[in-house]
Amino acid sequence: MLYLSTRGHPDRKRFCEILLEGLAPDGGLYLPESYPRVDAAMLAKWRGLPYADLAFEILSLYIDDIPAEDLRAICRKTYTAEVFGTREIAPLRKLEEGVFLEALSNGPTLAFKDMAMQLLGNLFEYELGRRGEELNILGATSGDTGSAAEYAMRGKKGVRVFMTSPHGRMSPFQQAQMFSLQDANIHNLAIEGVFDDCQDIVKAVSNDLAFKRKHRIGTVNSINWARLVAQVVYYFAGYFQATSANDRQVSFAVPSGNFGNICAGHVARMMGLPVARLVLATNENDVLDEFFRTGIYRVRGSKDTYETSSPSMDISKASNFERFVFDLVGRDGAKLRYLFAEELVAKGRFDLSGDIARAREQYGFVSGKSTHADRLATIRDTHARFGTVIDTHTADGLKVARAHVQAGIPMIVLETALPIKFAATIVEALGHEPERPAKFAGIEGLPKRVTVLPADAAQVKQFIAAHVS
Ligand SMILES: *Cc1c(COP(=O)(O)O)cnc(C)c1O
Repeated sequence: MLYLSTRGHPDRKRFCEILLEGLAPDGGLYLPESYPRVDAAMLAKWRGLPYADLAFEILSLYIDDIPAEDLRAICRKTYTAEVFGTREIAPLRKLEEGVFLEALSNGPTLAFKDMAMQLLGNLFEYELGRRGEELNILGATSGDTGSAAEYAMRGKKGVRVFMTSPHGRMSPFQQAQMFSLQDANIHNLAIEGVFDDCQDIVKAVSNDLAFKRKHRIGTVNSINWARLVAQVVYYFAGYFQATSANDRQVSFAVPSGNFGNICAGHVARMMGLPVARLVLATNENDVLDEFFRTGIYRVRGSKDTYETSSPSMDISKASNFERFVFDLVGRDGAKLRYLFAEELVAKGRFDLSGDIARAREQYGFVSGKSTHADRLATIRDTHARFGTVIDTHTADGLKVARAHVQAGIPMIVLETALPIKFAATIVEALGHEPERPAKFAGIEGLPKRVTVLPADAAQVKQFIAAHVS
C-alpha cells in the first residue's frame, strides 16, 4: 500500500514513512492510493473477532511495512480491557428504538482520542526503536488532544512530549489529568496566553527547520494518517454490534470539529462497510454544517470562533476536511492545490455547490447543528428518559442524529467523551455533578508537574533544548 498527497505531489510513500511525518511536502494530507475493499467473506470472518484482532485485520490492509506478527502484537498490547475498561473496548448500548450510543471514551483520558492515540504511542515506540531514533513531540492543546497524547506516550522509549496549553484556561479536571503525570518524558508547558498563542508557538518552532531537525521535533496532530486509520476500526466494531447479519445497513452520527473522526467513517464506508448515512454534527461553530448544506466552505477567524460548552468542537477550519474534498472532486490533486492553497488562502472560502448533491447521494453525508440550549435539553431528556448522563459533545451528536433517523436502519451515535470532563455544563443541565470513574478520584489534589512560560517561542525552544538529552 502506497500513500499519496492530496495536492498532487508525485512522491509515493509507505506507511512507516508517513507515520512520523505531518503534512506531505506540498502541504497536502496523505491518503492511500486506493481504499482496500472488504467483501462479504471478510465481513463474515471479522464479525465476532475481539477488537484487537479486528484492528489487526483492518490495519494490515493499510500497513505492509511492519511484519504481521509485530502488528498483531502491537494491536493486542493496545486494545486491552485494562486500558479501555471493557472487553468490547467500544461497547454499544441501546438508547431508544433504533438509536444506539457507541462508547469510545473509556480510555485513559475519557475521550475518543485515546482510541487512536494509544495505538500511535505503541507504533511510535516500535518504529523509533527499529530505526534507533528519537522523537520530541511538540503540541498545543486546549484539553483533549494533549492529555490523550501524554497518556499514550508516557514512559515510551525514544519519545518525549512537550505540550503547550493556555495557562489557567483548561477545566480543573483536564489540568489535573495532564499536570499530575510524573513521567520524565512528559513536559507540560503552561503558556501565559490563549490557545491560539500556543498554536502560534508550535508553528514558529516547526518553521525553524534547523531547530526542528537538530532536536527531532514532530507532532501527533489529527492529520496523522495512523490516527485516522485506527479510528476506522470502531466503525466496523459498531456495525457488528448493531446488526445481526452483514446485509444490513447502519448510520453513524459524529460530533465533529477537525473532521478526523467522521473522515474515518468515510474511509470505512469507502472500504465497503454498509453505512447508509454519515451524520455530521457541529456546535455553534458550524463551518462544516454550512458546507454540507450549501457546498460553500467558509473558514472563520479566531474572533468568529465561539467558545462553547462542547469546546473540543470549537474549530474554525477543519484540518482533515481536505481528505474528503479530495475524494469528492474525483481525486484531482491539481484542483485540491488550487482550492486549498489558492482560493482558501486568498478569499477564506471556496464554492463546491455544484458537487454538494453528490456528497449526500454518493457519500452519504448529511449534517446539522446543535446549540448550548440544545445540549442542555438533550442532556436533561436523556437523563430523564434513560437514566444516562451524556457529555456535551455526545449531546450535539444525539440532537442532530434524531433529525436523520431512517426506519429500519440503526443510528449509532459516537460517544466522544465522558461527562466528567465537562462537569460544569452537566451541573447546569442536571443540577448535580456527573459520576467520576474511581481511578480519577481526587486527582485535582495530586502534585502538579508543569512549567509556566510566557507566550514566546524563543523561551519554549530554550526549554526544549535544555530537556532533550
Ligand atoms: C476531538 C473531539 C471531537 C471532534 O473530533 P474531530 O475528529 O476533530 O472531528 C469531538 N468530541 C470530543 C470530546 C473530542 O475530544
